[in-house]
Amino acid sequence: MSPHEAVVAVDIGGTTTKSALVGVDGRILATDVRATEHGEAAQRAVSAATATQASRARTLGARVVGAGVVSPGIIDEASGVVRYASNLGWRGVSLRDLLTTVLDAPVGVGHDARSAGIAEGVFGAVRGQASYVHVSIGTGIAASLVVAGRAVSGHEGGAGELGHTPVHPGGEPCPCGQRGCLEVYASGAGLARRYEQRTGTARTAAQVAARLEEDRAAGEVWSEGARALALGLATCTQLLDPQTIVIAGGLAQAGDLLLAPVRAGLAELLRWREAPTLVVTTLGTDAARLGAALVAMQAAGLADRAAAWDLGATGVPAGAGAAGG
Ligand SMILES: [Zn+2]
Repeated sequence: MSPHEAVVAVDIGGTTTKSALVGVDGRILATDVRATEHGEAAQRAVSAATATQASRARTLGARVVGAGVVSPGIIDEASGVVRYASNLGWRGVSLRDLLTTVLDAPVGVGHDARSAGIAEGVFGAVRGQASYVHVSIGTGIAASLVVAGRAVSGHEGGAGELGHTPVHPGGEPCPCGQRGCLEVYASGAGLARRYEQRTGTARTAAQVAARLEEDRAAGEVWSEGARALALGLATCTQLLDPQTIVIAGGLAQAGDLLLAPVRAGLAELLRWREAPTLVVTTLGTDAARLGAALVAMQAAGLADRAAAWDLGATGVPAGAGAAGG
């Protein structure tokens, strides 16, 4: 039996663009993964992924009632425009206009990290909470600042750039042009770069994490990163008073190797108040695509229905990876 209605969810990542056709009951009906391109080729790839899902919907006898696309960069969610995305080479790209030429349905546009944070609150580690901070640590560091149930986007869609808040005045240079940014010390790329600087050996952040016991340089780089992260999170705590801080992204896989020193650092920095609870994501790498599905359901006017999705029963996270192209 096929559902009558479905939405298209597209997650434009740094290396791959993932899309899915999702029934309005939360079941994943089809998925597609393709390499993320640059410039106009990236726009064509997003259109093609959307068209592919629309054509699958027709094959399944389903009607597409909405689409959601999430992107990195500075996103104006209200107008559906990517103001600036350096990795994609985009400036002023209207994703909404682009996708409405492919689909006869309402299109929502979201920021990838903010949408992932919202998905965590609807389905994941902070289900039902209204005030939390969701920090994605991968190549860079981006935060979703959720206040009273809404992710703060700011004046121009640029809120949540936690990775570029300074943690060391006059510190090491960041590719953004500033010095001492958090992600210079605590992102996956930052940890790898600092380890290589110290030892002359190239290792990924995960490899550095695996060497903490026997490798002094790994231990130093790691604890300096954790200390920098604790500083950034202490600032978030004082500004926003979150109930919970969720660590997501590739570095979340380090689990307690990361959480334990960050927790200790937070407790030390916050003297006159309790630190928020610190946990890792329960949505894994599917958070952004779930976020895109939520944006799509919202565009379709079905946000309440999405909130009732039972991921355990419908297998959205598992199905997303296993359903294949
Ligand atoms: Zn920076």
